[in-house]
Amino acid sequence: MIRKNAETKEQMNAKSKQMLIRKASKPGRPVLRFSPTAWAKLLYIRDKADNEVGGFGITEPEDLLFVTDFITVKQKVTVVSVSFDDEAVADFFDTQVDLGRKPEQFARIWLHSHPGDSPEPSFTDEETFQRVFGGCQWSIMFIIAEQDKTYAMLSFNVGPGAKVLIPVAVDYSYDFGPSDKKAWDDEYKANVIVEKFSRCTDNKDLVTEDADPDSFALPYDLLDEFEEMSPAERQFVLDELAAKPELWDQESEVLCL
Ligand SMILES: [Zn+2]
Repeated sequence: MIRKNAETKEQMNAKSKQMLIRKASKPGRPVLRFSPTAWAKLLYIRDKADNEVGGFGITEPEDLLFVTDFITVKQKVTVVSVSFDDEAVADFFDTQVDLGRKPEQFARIWLHSHPGDSPEPSFTDEETFQRVFGGCQWSIMFIIAEQDKTYAMLSFNVGPGAKVLIPVAVDYSYDFGPSDKKAWDDEYKANVIVEKFSRCTDNKDLVTEDADPDSFALPYDLLDEFEEMSPAERQFVLDELAAKPELWDQESEVLCL
């Protein structure tokens, strides 16, 4: 579904470009910055369980690379994937528009965590990023792993297009609020549904964890195993995940307003 705003898409794109150019024209490379509170929430939610968790970065109109909040939506997750619920994404967008925000403030920065120590995007991440955000003029895929290792790819999708890895920083120069663990716990509980991860549909006995997030304990050896698979084996697993119908099927029109 496509939502119309008072501003035309061209006007919004021109504005976004201006903002990014302003950032990029400062000395050095553009940096994806987080407010301390947004960063704390991201880490807190990352550490709730040993699975991936995803959400959107919220920014101010005059500073599109400064994330002031991390908001999750209803999603199904495994140790190697995040799949947002279409309806929840639409509701999230409605809420953000009602709050007076423009799409470039809430629908360009895709954040998700990796339970292992590698923030490198998986094949599925790359494919999802291209498919869901590839129609946006620009977008960012950000991943945070254990030990706060990060990955941030800024992608320009106009003209010949370009992708650039950008640094990540927590910006303590702004005022920031306190933590709100109760609200973060509630948000996690309401939105994150942990699914069983099976590396092979013919072998059902590989993962038998309880689906309850609080009791879901990641078999780290499984993740290690995954990381140590041969490229062909890993590709098979990733292809299988990518083929799951609930993985990011129809969001592209929604995300790129
Ligand atoms: Zn990932």
